[in-house]
Amino acid sequence: MQPLCPFEKIFPSALKRDADYFMTHAYNEAIEAWKKDEVPIGAVIEHKGQIIASAHNQSRSTNDPTAHAEILAISQAASFLGDWRLNECALYVTKEPCPMCSGALVISRIGKVYYGLPDPKMGCVGGATDLGALPESNHKFESVGGVLETLNHEILKAFFDMKRQANATKKANALKENAQSTNNDEE
Ligand SMILES: [Zn+2]
Repeated sequence: MQPLCPFEKIFPSALKRDADYFMTHAYNEAIEAWKKDEVPIGAVIEHKGQIIASAHNQSRSTNDPTAHAEILAISQAASFLGDWRLNECALYVTKEPCPMCSGALVISRIGKVYYGLPDPKMGCVGGATDLGALPESNHKFESVGGVLETLNHEILKAFFDMKRQANATKKANALKENAQSTNNDEE
């Protein structure tokens, strides 16, 4: 059964292609992730005003810890452009990139990064550290956090609340079953 997502996609006007516009498309990808029972994080890559890559987390369904939205989007964009260098591209992602994805962003020579929810624990484009600003690195990039932050926070929080609730119910049911079988044994 597909998990129901209580959030609905947003379709912004394509006339105003600002950071909110591209982030909304990343948010819609996060909703796609939820529908597949994946952690709802989405990413898109913009090149000359067009979205050339669009992806969401797929780690669970593919059993691949590297299948983060950003990594998948980077591969898509490079393949689309026929060039591994993404200097003229901007990545939009609903949550601050982790160490792995931030590393891939340096390696892909991304032009700029916009993210929704900051992550002071694991975020590596300004939260915990900034891989886009390594002093000796020959590629640096700017990051802008807090784009549609509330929206991007809400969906992640709701997903993890739902998971916690499901786990608690599972535990309670297991305890109940245990108690019942113990009672049966005693009879
Ligand atoms: Zn990541």
